[in-house]
Amino acid sequence: MSRPRSSPWSPAGGAFWSGRWQAPEAVLHVVDPEDGAIVGTVADCTPSDVDDAVHAVARAVLEGPAWPVWSRREALHRAAGLLAQREGAFAGLISQEGCKPNRDAAREVQRAVETVRLSAEQADRLEGRTLPFGDTPRGENRLGWYTREPVGVVAAITPFNDPLNLVAHKVAPALIGGNGVVLKPAEQTPLVALAFIELLLEAGVPADRLAVLPGRGATVGAALAGHPRVDLVSFTGGHTTGTAVAATAGAKKTLMELGGNGAVLVLADADVRRASAAVVDGAFGNAGQNCLSVQRVFVARELVDDLVERIVVLTRKLVVGSKALASTQIGPLIDEAAAVRIERWVEEAVQGGAEAHVGAKREGTYYWPTVLTAVPAGARVLTEEVFGPVVSIEPFDSVDEAVSEVNSLEYGLQAGVFTTDLDTALDVAQRLRVGAVMINDTGDFRIDAMPFGGSKRSGVGREGVPFAVDAMTEPKIIAIHRTSRPA
Ligand code: NAD
Repeated sequence: MSRPRSSPWSPAGGAFWSGRWQAPEAVLHVVDPEDGAIVGTVADCTPSDVDDAVHAVARAVLEGPAWPVWSRREALHRAAGLLAQREGAFAGLISQEGCKPNRDAAREVQRAVETVRLSAEQADRLEGRTLPFGDTPRGENRLGWYTREPVGVVAAITPFNDPLNLVAHKVAPALIGGNGVVLKPAEQTPLVALAFIELLLEAGVPADRLAVLPGRGATVGAALAGHPRVDLVSFTGGHTTGTAVAATAGAKKTLMELGGNGAVLVLADADVRRASAAVVDGAFGNAGQNCLSVQRVFVARELVDDLVERIVVLTRKLVVGSKALASTQIGPLIDEAAAVRIERWVEEAVQGGAEAHVGAKREGTYYWPTVLTAVPAGARVLTEEVFGPVVSIEPFDSVDEAVSEVNSLEYGLQAGVFTTDLDTALDVAQRLRVGAVMINDTGDFRIDAMPFGGSKRSGVGREGVPFAVDAMTEPKIIAIHRTSRPA
């Protein structure tokens, strides 16, 4: 039965480009994954819409009036303020069309406010420097400098799991850098993206520099990534999709934020109580639908029983339920297919000899937080990104063995190490091949200003506001060849 809800939010037309809301020929229904109720309707855009939108944004950037840096900064500061004021409405949208209980959705809005504010502050970093032409005889009589210029048109393609903050992480740095942006949000969660674009327009971002085109990945996403007038593709999503996007994009600048399988090392001298609480939090938040989600825990053999017991006790206490209830900690998966896939992967592991200590249960789009041990090598819950509430715990006999296990994984986004010995912590951190190592924390931690991204299948390049601004701008040199020597 459907739970009570506020009236569906749907922006005028459900897509925006060429400076106005557009009336779509076809529509996509947005559903609440909890009960399948329709919560909104948006445009189902086409490749031809993408062509119109990209050309319009490219014209605005190349031929439109200049958008001075002070005005970009003011617009983004205003946007951050408006978003903070409307936290409740934005959290409501995130929760309705996505998977987060209200409390987690509100936290995402607070993060997005921070992302937009940090982006506004990057105005101070859009600077260049003079060039040392006098350092070589060939540079004599020349004077020059470089400035940071926008790349042009940024295509932003985003996933469903943090539907506001991951949009903000692309759109706000692109705008402060002076670019135009064409956004393709995840088909499951376009409403909050549309609301965010509406808010940016209200805050004073020039309408012709923005476009948002809801639609399917294979049509809108592919047309956008492959469009010749797009200068940079900023993609966040799965590794398989990322590979397809890179092939379609061809030889243009790309930023790829892809998946992970969140390794955590618990060394023999670790504080087990602290490690177990952090693992439960990192593995099951947003029902495990987080690129930083803890998926594999490697623990010193002498601690394994204690750690498993503590993790199981904490996991049993988690409240799985309706997103609308204040007591709920774990909401649904994004759709039933995702829940069924996770159920199959766990069943396959159990059939191969794994023990499920808690969870391993599905009802519709819900999958209960699951703790596995003795998982057979090669099981998909170990080798693939689960993107669901499943954690596997494996004992190790030496720190070297644990480090080489983690380094042999195909993903390398972030990792965590629990130990009370600083030398060991730093040694392990230096040896792990991942984008970040959190000491006495799991890898499920990020502030929006830090460089964010991974090695191997986890991505190409780095986001994180200052780093995204660097990637979305380029040095442009201006040099003067003096006709007479200085006296
Ligand atoms: P997804 O890869 O299925 O889709 C991501 C986006 O790509 C969506 O907007 C989708 O419509 C679009 N898309 C699909 N096919 C496309 C194509 N052929 N061309 C262009 N675009 C296409 O990912 P998802 O299921 O929405 O999100 C989950 C994945 O995202 C996980 O793998 C997760 O780890 C990853 N993720 C990574 C980060 C990070 O920062 N590293 C953050 C969040 C999520």
